[in-house]
Amino acid sequence: MATIELRDLGNTGLKLSCVGFGASPLGNVFGPVSEHEANACVREAFRLGINFFDTSPYYGGTLSEKVLGKALKALGVPRNEYIVSTKCGRYVEGFDFSAERVTKSIDESLERLQLDYVDILQCHDIEFGSLDQIVNETIPALQKLKESGKIRFIGITGLPLGVFTYVLDRVPPSTVDVILSYCHYSINDSTLEDLLPYLKSKSVGVIHASPLAMGLLTEGGPPEWHPASPELKAACQAAAAYCKEKGKNISKLAMQYSLSNKDISSVLVGMNSVRQVEGNVAAATELATVGKDEKTVSEIEDILKSVKNQTWPSGIQQS
Ligand code: NAD
Repeated sequence: MATIELRDLGNTGLKLSCVGFGASPLGNVFGPVSEHEANACVREAFRLGINFFDTSPYYGGTLSEKVLGKALKALGVPRNEYIVSTKCGRYVEGFDFSAERVTKSIDESLERLQLDYVDILQCHDIEFGSLDQIVNETIPALQKLKESGKIRFIGITGLPLGVFTYVLDRVPPSTVDVILSYCHYSINDSTLEDLLPYLKSKSVGVIHASPLAMGLLTEGGPPEWHPASPELKAACQAAAAYCKEKGKNISKLAMQYSLSNKDISSVLVGMNSVRQVEGNVAAATELATVGKDEKTVSEIEDILKSVKNQTWPSGIQQS
């Protein structure tokens, strides 16, 4: 069995599997998932070499953290064999990036996850908060959590790429260890690429989430709540139909597209069936052994040309 590649995450010393397990589907975000299926997904992912698991108190109103925690415990392996990231500041009740809330939040998360520490705690979707509060209050609170040993590394997540430079330009070096960007290094939108040299210059680890553009690049299509424009949804649907007709799998090609850039430490994909876990791991091992199907990717890029790099609004400021 080919093993899945591990990549360094910035300066953290962590080695993340290049395919990461996005646990938002375990909070039933993409439709119902039984606890049995959730356990089976986590077990199979770990067996196949995935060591990185990402969740948030926001996913399924804390359900994802609880289900992931149980599934990880059931693996029965030493804690240092897997890497867990969760988030703070975004909850089903709304956003709160205050020092008081995020300090309480980690204790709640650790209890739900049944863990003594998380490897990474990330401020979740900072474009919905005051970026100056993130710099001056939230991150200093997370530094205290780091000192206490409840978290090992600090991260920030968001959709508009400008939020990362805003924060990283204002915090002391090595304060923010990792950024999680989503939906910006996929076949339809590759705008994260331009930011990679800057992130490297800051020694910040890079995680790219939602390689399937939250379901746009799947045969089944996106969930009802997907924020893309009708035009973008239609173009992706046409690309998926084209691949199907050619006997190709658009999700596999999309995974391989995201995995190809080694400046991205881990590609976090949401998975809610053992079949998807196996498919996404196979996409990585096939990329490492056979390479990319450049021809079909460029045909998909042609189909998506009119919507290339189209995104959607997110947050209270577009910096
Ligand atoms: P995604 O692009 O990974 O797509 C997930 C969807 O694709 C789900 O419906 C899943 O069932 C389906 N899927 C997965 N593998 C498939 C395959 N091989 N074939 C067909 N369908 C497949 O989007 P996502 O789940 O939103 O993102 C991944 C993870 O990244 C999340 O679970 C979360 O952990 C993280 N994330 C974080 C943020 C943030 O912090 N702001 C934002 C987005 C995602």
